[in-house]
Amino acid sequence: MPTESSNTPETPETPDRSREPGQGLTKEEALHRLLEGHWRYLENDRLQRTVTPQCRDFHSQGQYPFAALLGCADSRVSPELIFDQGEGDIFVVRVAGNILGNGSLASLEYAVKNLGVKLLVVMGHENCGAVKAALTTPDAEGAMGFLLREIAPSVAEARLLPEPLLDRAVECNVKHTVSAILERSPTLRSAVDEGSIRIVGIVYRLTSGDIEFHTTVG
Ligand SMILES: [Zn+2]
Repeated sequence: MPTESSNTPETPETPDRSREPGQGLTKEEALHRLLEGHWRYLENDRLQRTVTPQCRDFHSQGQYPFAALLGCADSRVSPELIFDQGEGDIFVVRVAGNILGNGSLASLEYAVKNLGVKLLVVMGHENCGAVKAALTTPDAEGAMGFLLREIAPSVAEARLLPEPLLDRAVECNVKHTVSAILERSPTLRSAVDEGSIRIVGIVYRLTSGDIEFHTTVG
């Protein structure tokens, strides 16, 4: 009788892709990894992470995030927590109301062109204060006025939809930001058209911890 070891083929080692652009993941694999992390978050089964000198040494030599995310600055919507990811995994841009300014657009372009990220996420959230302000005080001045005017078209669109108004405005604002990325960035538009990146627009529910998909391109 042959022994088990003599007939068992050698298991090929999983290649370490952690130092490849985008961690070597396709856009589909990147989304899968993000959703796996979100599932751990919902199950309260987050990975135990320690920051050792070896970790710092690894990260000091370069960054290899597998996803980029434009989200709201709200203190309750930390992407690394919601998707249970570690240092160096997500390239995060946060600004109140997840609006698209030149700085945030350039950051997303950098993530794709220079870091090889293939998945971009725009994340709005339930009960967003910036969107609420655009509903209630749209005529603010100065920098706040600029921010609220960015959200104003989404508010106008949401008023045509079934209640509740704030939820609809948050959803429209996410879709508006995804559209704005495609309109204002020939680089990212081309990457989507070539099939090399995917952009998803999601809304995070503060109450349940769930995420909802509202738009996907690429
Ligand atoms: Zn917000």
